[in-house]
Amino acid sequence: MSGKDVTPMMAQYLAIKAEHPDALLFYRMGDFYELFFDDAKAAATALDIALTKRGKHLGQDIAMCGVPHHAAEGYLLTLIRKGFRVAICEQMESPAEAKKRGYKAVVKREVVRLVTPGTLTEDSLLSARANNYLGGFCMVRDAGGFAWVDLSTGDVTVASASLTTLGPLLARVAPSELLVSEAEAELLRPQITDMGVAMIPRQSQSFDSTGGAQWVCSQYAVDSPDAFGQMSRAQLGALGAVLAYLDLTQKGHTALLRPPTIERDGGLMLIDSATRRNLELTHALDGKRAGSLLSVMDRAVTGGGARLLESRLTSPTTDVATIAARLDGVTFLVENPNLRVDLRSTLRAVPDLERALSRIGLGRGGPRDLGAIRQGLQQADALAGLLETQETPFATHVAALGGHEELLTLLRDALAAEPPLLLRDGGAIAAGHDAELDDARTLRDQGRRVVGGLQQDYAALADITSLKIKHNNVLGYFVETPATHADRMMSAPLSETFIHRQTTANQVRFTTVELSGLETRILNAGAHALELEKDIFERLITVVIDHAAVLSSVARAIAEMDVTSALADLAVAGDWTRPRVDASRAFKVTGGRHPVVEAALKREDGGGFIPNDCDLTAGIDDSRPVWLLTGPNMAGKSTFLRQNALIAILAQSGSYVPAEAAHIGIVDQLFSRVGASDDLARGRSTFMVEMVETAAILNQAGSNALVILDEIGRGTATYDGLSIAWATLEHLHNVNLCRALFATHYHELTALTATLDGLRNATVAVQEWEGDVVFLHEVRDGAADRSYGVQVARLAGLPDTVINRARTILQTLEEGDRASGRATKTLVDDLPLFNAPPVAPAGQRESAVHLRLDSVSPDSMSPRDALDLIYELKALKTQDR
Ligand code: ATP
Repeated sequence: MSGKDVTPMMAQYLAIKAEHPDALLFYRMGDFYELFFDDAKAAATALDIALTKRGKHLGQDIAMCGVPHHAAEGYLLTLIRKGFRVAICEQMESPAEAKKRGYKAVVKREVVRLVTPGTLTEDSLLSARANNYLGGFCMVRDAGGFAWVDLSTGDVTVASASLTTLGPLLARVAPSELLVSEAEAELLRPQITDMGVAMIPRQSQSFDSTGGAQWVCSQYAVDSPDAFGQMSRAQLGALGAVLAYLDLTQKGHTALLRPPTIERDGGLMLIDSATRRNLELTHALDGKRAGSLLSVMDRAVTGGGARLLESRLTSPTTDVATIAARLDGVTFLVENPNLRVDLRSTLRAVPDLERALSRIGLGRGGPRDLGAIRQGLQQADALAGLLETQETPFATHVAALGGHEELLTLLRDALAAEPPLLLRDGGAIAAGHDAELDDARTLRDQGRRVVGGLQQDYAALADITSLKIKHNNVLGYFVETPATHADRMMSAPLSETFIHRQTTANQVRFTTVELSGLETRILNAGAHALELEKDIFERLITVVIDHAAVLSSVARAIAEMDVTSALADLAVAGDWTRPRVDASRAFKVTGGRHPVVEAALKREDGGGFIPNDCDLTAGIDDSRPVWLLTGPNMAGKSTFLRQNALIAILAQSGSYVPAEAAHIGIVDQLFSRVGASDDLARGRSTFMVEMVETAAILNQAGSNALVILDEIGRGTATYDGLSIAWATLEHLHNVNLCRALFATHYHELTALTATLDGLRNATVAVQEWEGDVVFLHEVRDGAADRSYGVQVARLAGLPDTVINRARTILQTLEEGDRASGRATKTLVDDLPLFNAPPVAPAGQRESAVHLRLDSVSPDSMSPRDALDLIYELKALKTQDR
């Protein structure tokens, strides 16, 4: 390409773009970020903005679109949500500076940041109540490591991972981007994309463990990564890749990260992705937050608290001491309501310290971020004050919260009461903090006052009362009079003072020697004041960065206090109870409730939630670790199953639980499956999904697991399904030896209590009332007597004719079954849980006509209904014969 074809600016653009082929390049030109070529086309479509053109390249029009610099965040948000990455390219000098290098010199530009979904820091691009993680996964032979970092809060965690545990980890952490080695990308792609996670393949070298150790040392300024505990080679590789990616995207700005937390193997309850989805922990099945467990229990009043609560709930611990310590905190605040109320009202005024700190560390903090640090410290101080008055279990938090007077005083003195959004607007530094700044501001403000006096003088001199002194960006200060005075103003003697600058439709504008001099003085004083503000601001930023570690402990202590008081508030409001959690294999819940169903019933003003007991305690007294639950559809089986799983999760998160009493022996794995849940999005048949998931449980569940199986085997033909459910139940009981709840519509399984001595039959009670079924939602010992399918169908609004026809068929089938033995059994079994009521001897039994007549209420029938009924009865009579 000859120099003639490409303008110097385009040459610069192309060179920068070549370094960022995977990102849209936001190329700064004055007040706009411009995009060119294919970037422009993609962005114009994604942002729904006009696509224009600018000049030619190799004879072709150059496509272009642009977004104003001041509104860029909104556009960035849209692009990031749509899966783009954006390279921000800024002007590194002013056009005037460039011109000094030559008439044609192009302004220097550099990419200052690569904006990717996993490395966001702006409040407007993030959800305040959720973490935003960047993950890295690395395999070293058979051992894997997983590291994840939230750049916006500084949280760093590493854990062991394998090809099997990667899925559950991804489900828990839900990273916005996951870095993997190019060498493993294809192997991992199905699993990762299946989880809805964006996979970013990186060169294999960036996962090298030696390089990883170096990244850790330079990030944290330590001599060896062992400073944080033992990390495996795979963990170091994963963490190194993440740190290198942060360096790449932040263009060398070192993030303020907390020391890595190394997760102990087995330290957390393992919950796989299907179980998380199924239990609707953080998102309901429709993907929304509403309707999830988190949504009904999140009473945190700060962003940091909400994020910590989510992380507690998604990673319940198996450590009895940790749980006890967390519960002690909750109990204390349950028992001290006044303190709880005071803490929560103080916490409400806490800004997002973690995120402000992160932006400050990355060199993109504004005056309001410093304001947030000041406000956070102020509230931390107030929290410490509240807690110091009495003996509490929060001693370590109190120590972290208090004692920052020096920094707080500095920020109080130096920072304006209400700092502006941008430093360049001025007014970030308080009056009285710096004498030189105060002088420069006085000079600037005096100048403005002098201008006011000058206007009066000029109006008198010209004898024009409407004469004004105004200011705009083009002319600076100028004198303005109506155009009717133009001639007089431009003739002697006034023209000796007033120098003509501009004539508009109605006005004439002038300057004067005095006014220009004054303007220069005002501008100089203003610019000087701004320079001084910038210097002071930078000094404050440095001081804050020097305090980063303590500030991040303050933020953590605030989040802890927020979670603890939120859980206490919830416990009191919802009448929850403190669970007993220990290392036994107990699982005894008395009067347990499903928090989400209960909340929904309350909202709808329906009947109250009926509490139920569950005892799966293994090996103690005559308790049975496996319960087989039968009962009609809609009776509340699924609710009962899930509520017990949720109670285990809540207890091990350190929360009170919705029950009268609960004794939970640590659950180290939790599995929850529902049969026949189609997964069309992933192209698997209902039955295949069911079997893949069941296989995972039977292969993995150990003796401390809690397994919840709902209607396993429903996705296939009756006998297949029954046999699979049967064998699954036996395997759980005999091989997995775990605590389990098994709901089924295969009534035949209830007979297994005769051979499996750890199995107990339970049923959700219903009552029949005038042909309708009434759900009592009560779990009792014993097996369901029948399915009530037809009654449930009637409740669902199936037309009467269909219901009546179904009743007739059902009756015929039941009789046929009795008359001809096994011949019609298959047909019968294709109906849901079926156990016929005692049948009257032939001759005495009621005909279909009788049954139908019993079910009608003539008073409520229209003449037309009555006519229809006659036709129906005639049809039934034929069948009765
Ligand atoms: P299916 O087999 O059709 O899924 P199910 O027996 O599993 O039915 P659930 O889905 O658990 O039934 O419950 C059905 C509805 O009954 C719930 O949406 C809820 O409104 C109500 N319900 C369940 N349990 C209770 C309870 N203990 N107290 C009050 N209402 C309840």
